[in-house]
Amino acid sequence: MSAVMVARKAPRRWEKLPGKNTFCCDGRVMMARQKGVFYLTLFLIVGTCSLFFAFECPYLAVHLSPAIPVFAVVLFLFVMAMLLRTSFSDPGVLPRALPAEATFIEMEIEAANGNVPAGQRPPPRIRNVQINNQIVKLKYCYTCKIFRPPRASHCGICDNCVERFDHHCPWVGNCVGKRNYRYFYLFTLSLSLLTIYIFTFDIVHVVLRSVDSGFVNTLKETPGTYPPTVLEVLVCFFTLWSVVGLTGFHTYLISLNQTTNEDIKGSWSGKNRVQNPYSHRNIIKNCCEVLCGPVYPSVLDRRGLMVETPTPPISTTATKNSDPDPQNTKTTAPLIPNEHTPDDTKPSIASSPEKSSPKEPPPPSLGDTGETTPVKEKAF
Ligand SMILES: [Zn+2]
Ligand SMILES: [Zn+2]
Repeated sequence: MSAVMVARKAPRRWEKLPGKNTFCCDGRVMMARQKGVFYLTLFLIVGTCSLFFAFECPYLAVHLSPAIPVFAVVLFLFVMAMLLRTSFSDPGVLPRALPAEATFIEMEIEAANGNVPAGQRPPPRIRNVQINNQIVKLKYCYTCKIFRPPRASHCGICDNCVERFDHHCPWVGNCVGKRNYRYFYLFTLSLSLLTIYIFTFDIVHVVLRSVDSGFVNTLKETPGTYPPTVLEVLVCFFTLWSVVGLTGFHTYLISLNQTTNEDIKGSWSGKNRVQNPYSHRNIIKNCCEVLCGPVYPSVLDRRGLMVETPTPPISTTATKNSDPDPQNTKTTAPLIPNEHTPDDTKPSIASSPEKSSPKEPPPPSLGDTGETTPVKEKAF
């Protein structure tokens, strides 16, 4: 009875999550805190398309083909679906280490570093892992208290580490990472098509009207005909350059299986003789992996209930009374950031004695990465 009461009063995990994300719909929707530019994106897309549907589509449907507005509606709905899917989803946020786990990692680092003389800077907190015969560095995140898995990075705006971090996009109001990158790409691709489509048929509309009754005559007879068209043409013209350019850039990145973050940092530029260990050296394979690979579940469990673990003296009776939600037992489970990371399972990481026991208590974040480095690598 009391267990049921506790379960009902327990907050959901999204209410206690650190970082600067905002949640709605009881944790189902997750976004960055700054959403002003996202609303501008929505306004521009919905506004421009509404003008097109109201002013050009009726004329084009009668004088050219009814398929024109139908295709525009389908494209518009697809763009909106991809935008909302990108904006409202977990991009791949990694949970922070629990206090006990953070303490364990700190102890481990201190033990590895030995006694650093006073006044000297301790060595950087870096671990090396081998992925497809390339040495990749894992950096320690001082905010999340974890060694980030390969390709993860800490987003300063959302204040979270994100798996396969691409960039933080204010236009979609969210980080773009492992879990929403493909939707982001499909959004930019479909928005490019929609912009070209509206731009083209705006011009066609003006030309047809001018052929029918002359540009000046139409303006005299129906003065409200062209202002919306001019507005749409202007919005589409300026959107075209940025969105089409962005789509082209991401197509290039996908063909190399590379992220924007890696491209900016020059992670695989070869300056350290490190080639991209994730690339298949084949454009088709890279595109298939990025766009058609598996969809990963969120590791945050935002809607799970927070249940305080009973203190040791009363835990024996409490656990025997059966936990109302089996997932709650995971509250104290180790947080393994790369638990669901096939990036780490796919590449041949050096043999891992810890691989077989990922669910054991700390060490938490290292899983099959941290300690796998040969001793000679001097991981710390
Ligand atoms: Zn972090
Ligand atoms: Zn972010």
